[in-house]
Amino acid sequence: MELLMNERSLLQRRRKIIGQIPKIEECLRGSLVIMKRSCGKLNCRCQKGQKHKAIYLSQSYKGKTRMLYLPQRAEDKAHQYVKNYQKIRSILNSLSDININLLTKRQANG
Ligand SMILES: [Zn+2]
Repeated sequence: MELLMNERSLLQRRRKIIGQIPKIEECLRGSLVIMKRSCGKLNCRCQKGQKHKAIYLSQSYKGKTRMLYLPQRAEDKAHQYVKNYQKIRSILNSLSDININLLTKRQANG
């Protein structure tokens, strides 16, 4: 599809895409895993179905998958940061595709 686009529209797309980059410092690589469990204490709310929630960041690291515990208070930010990371990665892929096109394009008068 992009092979049919001219240089000007490629540059326009590139400019539009970089306007969509989330705050690059607010990124988190990996995915969140929410675990719900009961603690085993009698009379705890978890015995009545309100299980305790624990949040982990699952992340590949040095060829392995590691699970990092995150405190409950970090949950909302962690979700947003993971989303930002994925968005940034997808933007980098799109920019890379556009740049391949720009770099391989013949000059109109060359
Ligand atoms: Zn409990």
